This record gives sequence, C-alpha cells and structure tokens, in this order.
Amino acid sequence: MNSRKFYIKTFGCQMNEYDSNKISDLLKSISFDKTEKIDDADCIVFNTCHIREKATQKVYSDIGKNKKIFKNKSKPIFVLAGCVAQAESSVVFEKSDYVDIVVGPQAYHKLPNLIEKFKKNKKRSVDTNLNVDEKFDVLNSLKNNLSKVSSFVTVQEGCDKFCKFCVVPYTRGPEFSRNHKTIINEIKSLTENGTKEIILLGQNVSAYKDENVTLAKLIKKIANINEVQRIRFTTSHPNDFDDELISLFGEEPKLMPQLHLPVQSGSDKVLKLMNRNHTRDDYLKLIDRFRLTRPDIQFSSDFIVGYPGETHEDHKDTINLIKDVGFSLSYSFIYSQRPGTPATNLDEISIEITKKRLEEVQGILFKQQLEFNNYMVNKENNVLFENKTQDQEQFFGRNQYMVPVFVKNNLIKAGEIKKIFIQNANRNNLFGKIV
Ligand code: SF4
Repeated sequence: MNSRKFYIKTFGCQMNEYDSNKISDLLKSISFDKTEKIDDADCIVFNTCHIREKATQKVYSDIGKNKKIFKNKSKPIFVLAGCVAQAESSVVFEKSDYVDIVVGPQAYHKLPNLIEKFKKNKKRSVDTNLNVDEKFDVLNSLKNNLSKVSSFVTVQEGCDKFCKFCVVPYTRGPEFSRNHKTIINEIKSLTENGTKEIILLGQNVSAYKDENVTLAKLIKKIANINEVQRIRFTTSHPNDFDDELISLFGEEPKLMPQLHLPVQSGSDKVLKLMNRNHTRDDYLKLIDRFRLTRPDIQFSSDFIVGYPGETHEDHKDTINLIKDVGFSLSYSFIYSQRPGTPATNLDEISIEITKKRLEEVQGILFKQQLEFNNYMVNKENNVLFENKTQDQEQFFGRNQYMVPVFVKNNLIKAGEIKKIFIQNANRNNLFGKIV
C-alpha cells in the first residue's frame, strides 16, 4: 500500500481505454495506488478524446466540476492527457488554471518524470511530442497486469489517410506499427492472467506492418497461442485489406466473423469531399469479397450525416448503401467541426436538415440491428462469458458477432465459451439459456 493515490477518467475510444491502463501501470511504478474515489486522489488524470466538439466541451466542464470537489481541500496534481491535450496544448492553460500537466497520446510514458518534476518545482508543463518509438520502448518494459477475459492490445497507431474531417493524423501522428514480437509477448502475459479474447487496436489497424509481418500474419501468430480463443481487430480503412487478410476470415476459426468497417457516406461525391480515397462501389465490392470467404460475416460501420456539401441525393445514396449492405450495428453522428482539420472552414448544413437526415439513417440502422438480433432467436450461439452483471443475477458474455448475451445461471465461469440457446432479443442484447 502506498500513501499516494491516483484517479483516472477515460473519455472516448477503446484505444484510450488501453492507454489509461498503461498510464495506470506507469503511475503504479512510481508508488501511486489507484483509487475509484476522485476525492481521495493526490493525482487526477483525464485521458481525453477529441473526436467530436462535444467531447472536448465535456472535458472542460468536467475539469470545472473537479475544481468544486476540491474547493476546501489541498489541490491534487491535475494531468490532462490524450487527444484534447494534444490538440489544445497551446490553449489549455489559458482555458483552465486547474491543469498542471498536459501530455499528448504519444508522450504519456514520460508522466512519472513530469509528475515528480512538478512536485519539486510546481511548474506547469506540456509534452506533446509524437515519438511513438520511444513510447513503446518504455511501455514494452511494463508488465500488462490486466486480468480481463477480453483484452485490448494496441498494435498500430496514427494514420496517413488524412480524411478531411478527422483529427487523428494531427493528434496521434503518422502510421506506426509496433514490433510484432513485443505484441506476442504482451498477449502471452495477458493470457497468463486469464485473457481469452484479444482485440487488436489501431486507428488504421489493417495497415499494420512490422518488417514483413502484416496484420494477417500477426493474427496467424496470435492464433498459434493456445490460450487465445478469439481474435478481433478494429478500426480499419477499406483501402487497406489485402487478399491474405480477407481470406483469413474463412480460414482461421479464432478470427471472429464480425468486422467494423467505417464507410462514413454512401455518396461518391461526399466520399471524395471527405478525401476517403475510395468509392461506394469499392466498398460494396469489398463487402462482397468478405462474404464470399465467410458467408455469415457481419459488419458494423460509422456514418457522418450532413457533411458539408451533402445534398438530398447524397443522403439518399447513404440510405441505399445501408439497405444494400445490412449492418448488424452502426454508429452515426451529425457532422461536427474539429478545429485544425481541413473541413473546418466549409459551410455547414442547417441543423434542422441534418437532424432529419440522422433520424432517417438511424431509423434504418436500428431496424437492421433489431432484425439481426431477432434472427438469432431460437438459434444456438457460442458465447464467451466475461463477468456477472452488477446485480449478480445474470452472467454476461458476447457471441461470435460481438452481441452481448445475458444468461441466468450460477454455474458459468468467466472465460468459458458455452453454447447458448437464444430465447429473446432486443436491439442491443440477447437473452438465453445454456444448451
Ligand atoms: S482513416 Fe480513420 S483515422 Fe485515418 S484520417 Fe480517416 S477517419 Fe481519421
């Protein structure tokens, strides 16, 4: 037990979740204990997300709330980490007098030093260096102590695609792939702690390449680890799939038949305006290639509704693409400006129109999601169980298509894969019993 405590709050994506675990390991290495109670903390870390304007506002509003919690107490060291820290590094101190340390997503490995320095000299500091090599050199030396049935492993970071609406190339820097041997070592240590499912993460994970090891080759190596039962990866750009990776869905039973494949729009004109560098037809052909190799594969996607320049016809193209593909799950948002991206200066479409378009897009996507879940009813699914629900009444797991499944049974153990007969479904979940 150490006397110093830290509290960490994670905003945004799965990669931030992974980073927060690493930040926790780093802080433990300098004798901090983790606390779930913010008012007990001597150090608070907000690991932030900059993907939408609202997410950034939420960070600043949460910093304000935090200030109130410590009004009559000694102030904890406050660290702003992640993509908001990177993108707003020059203005954070102006916007908030509460933040002590600003550290970008590729520089957080320096936190132990930055915190000890701040303790000595009380000088606020910013580190937004994009040296990913150095970061992973430090992180690889930390043992991953997570004991989760399903664990994220970052294998690739950054992006060279420069879609006009996206901050990632500016906040995470150029594409970088981790050394495959250190990835395998990390996965082996996770399996020693009970991990059965590995979800490989990257901003453009299908572009992974370490020497001659591509993502397909990396997955084959991971599949050779006996304890690993399931493998997934996210997120990908449609232009970065080679034949080997597509074929793998038909060949490697540990690679689950569900793929997140963002398309953003179904209109060629809008795809061009976004600088996506593929057409609607390219996307549909890619979907067909996956289905040919693995007929039951399911797709999820991301949609930006009301991108500047989107006409009624473009919107209809998106609706038709959704109908053509049939998604088992999707994320759709009204376009929001990200400062520093090329799309920022474009004229926006009125909110009344975009709201209507979003309703229409989500109406179809939600219907497809419900139909897919209903299709599972009266069928058997293989479910990897993760944990009990909070009320301890049910066990929670996911089927091969990533859909949450709930089962009332006290004999199930975390980490087991069981055949479940699906009895009921709603849009988000399935309910069943052991076969
Ligand atoms: S491919 Fe994805 S991460 Fe890369 S710029 Fe486009 S949206 Fe951003």
